[in-house]
Amino acid sequence: MTIIDGKQISSDIKKELQATVEACRENVNAVPGLTVIIIGEDHASQVYVRNKAKSCREIGMNSTVIELPEEISQAEVLARIEELNNNPEVHGILVQQPLPKHIDEYAVTMAISPFKDVDGFHPENVGQMVLGHLDRCFLSCTPYGILELLSRHAIETKGKHCVVVGRSNIVGKPMANLMLQKLKETNCTVTVCHSATRNMPELTRQADILIVAIGQANLITKDMVKPGAVVIDVGMNRVEDASRKSGYRLAGDVDYDNVSQTASAITPVPGGVGPMTIAMLLKNTLQSFMRAHNLQDTL
Ligand code: NDP
Repeated sequence: MTIIDGKQISSDIKKELQATVEACRENVNAVPGLTVIIIGEDHASQVYVRNKAKSCREIGMNSTVIELPEEISQAEVLARIEELNNNPEVHGILVQQPLPKHIDEYAVTMAISPFKDVDGFHPENVGQMVLGHLDRCFLSCTPYGILELLSRHAIETKGKHCVVVGRSNIVGKPMANLMLQKLKETNCTVTVCHSATRNMPELTRQADILIVAIGQANLITKDMVKPGAVVIDVGMNRVEDASRKSGYRLAGDVDYDNVSQTASAITPVPGGVGPMTIAMLLKNTLQSFMRAHNLQDTL
């Protein structure tokens, strides 16, 4: 059984990106810049944003965090985004979720220029992805990271049955769509399960590649997984653990201890998909910079 080590792979990717950022600096005397907007005081969001900023700096990219008060109006947020859209030193714009209730998520998504939408949430990017124009869009970072995990582990996907559990706009839907496409690391027959799916275990047991993004700890048990399947666990759930100082630990959506006995390869939580999401955010920001400077084919 192979443990798919997202921590190691993301670290390898960051080193590769760092080398390209350095080459950019030498060639055009500029580096990519990511700006993250955070609204309000949500503690978990602050931690995520700090990690993103730190990762940017580690690979030599510029990073700016704009902290806005919880009570800011939607119009002001949209105005700040428009300023960033027009700033040539900003190559990636990200608005950290969740947003305060009075701010419309869709309006924010639409306000970000598709050319700087490094989260890959704008309909323009989603549409290009669905059409298979992957060189003309940004891919949603978590599914993109999973493609990298499959590819760097040389997991055979062509013609395999991939079952995706979850249909969110940020994970399940783009993931299922990518697995369906005729790419080197995909080209699968795809089934998507969700909360209304009947007899889900019967479907998950058919999966050669099982990708799970539900948000419920240990929902996928050993009896739901075909022996020899490749299992990718996107879930990040806090479960109480009195032995930890924090009082909790992170668990995936898959019962790792038991499923790892039957899978041929599996991602752990933490240390699987999670670190890949940030690495792909950095990659998208670098990609945006390279498109803006017409460097795609030179570096
Ligand atoms: P959402 O809550 O947006 O979507 C969850 C999906 O799971 C929905 O489609 C829902 O179905 C489906 N679902 C819920 N319960 C069941 C069930 N009992 N059986 C089958 N399907 C079910 O979550 P996200 O996609 O945003 O995230 C999923 C998990 O992945 C979370 O734990 C999240 O924290 C984690 N995550 C991790 C990331 C990382 O970087 N590692 C990045 C993003 C998310 P329905 O549509 O019918 O409601």
